[in-house]
Amino acid sequence: MIKKERVTNVLSMLKEKFKEPKIALEYNNEYQLMVAVILSAQCTDVRVNIVTKEFFKVIEKPSDMRKLTLKEIEQYVKSTGFYKNKAKNLQLNAQQLLERHNDIVPQTMEELHELAGVGRKTANVILGDVWGISVGIVVDTHVRRLSNLIGLVDSDNPEIIEKQLMKIVPKKNWYEYSHFLILHGRDKCIARRPKCDECEINKYCKYYEKMLKIKIKKEEKNKIEK
Ligand code: SF4
Repeated sequence: MIKKERVTNVLSMLKEKFKEPKIALEYNNEYQLMVAVILSAQCTDVRVNIVTKEFFKVIEKPSDMRKLTLKEIEQYVKSTGFYKNKAKNLQLNAQQLLERHNDIVPQTMEELHELAGVGRKTANVILGDVWGISVGIVVDTHVRRLSNLIGLVDSDNPEIIEKQLMKIVPKKNWYEYSHFLILHGRDKCIARRPKCDECEINKYCKYYEKMLKIKIKKEEKNKIEK
């Protein structure tokens, strides 16, 4: 099966399963989404939502962030891990938004990417979730793992993976592709213990194909030995 065919089948099965995908992070405006995505690095969405529930009572816009000291920001975000770095980025990011964008979150990949704490992944999430703009594909840990297992890419580097995916996933599906894979990664294709036999897309998955061949070979070998 060629990769594009594999993508079409995977997308159609996962669309049937998850319907309309929605980001798990909670937020009320684009600035809060940016803060939540920055905090989500190396942290679960559940934990981020717990933290932002309190944090967003005081942080609605960049000027609110600028009123806090670094120590205060650290206290709020401490339990998301790497908090010193995240707090520093949030403080600088709020300052950059004022100096460069009049406190308005920009709507281009280039401008977003230049803000502290914002990589391609964060920028893609903001553009896709807030404005429906697709200029790339969000590659997080689930998208990286599943895209390799299914056999759509062959790299561990998120930027290379994104480029490879952009060639085979139709542009109109870029946004949902990531959401579907993230949801499926949490549901069936769990790291270290994927539930392959129950997986809805196993017939389009290279890893499953490989495992099946090994299983058949073993069974045949056992038969011969008996
Ligand atoms: S068959 Fe297994 S490895 Fe492939 S996507 Fe499903 S759970 Fe993941």
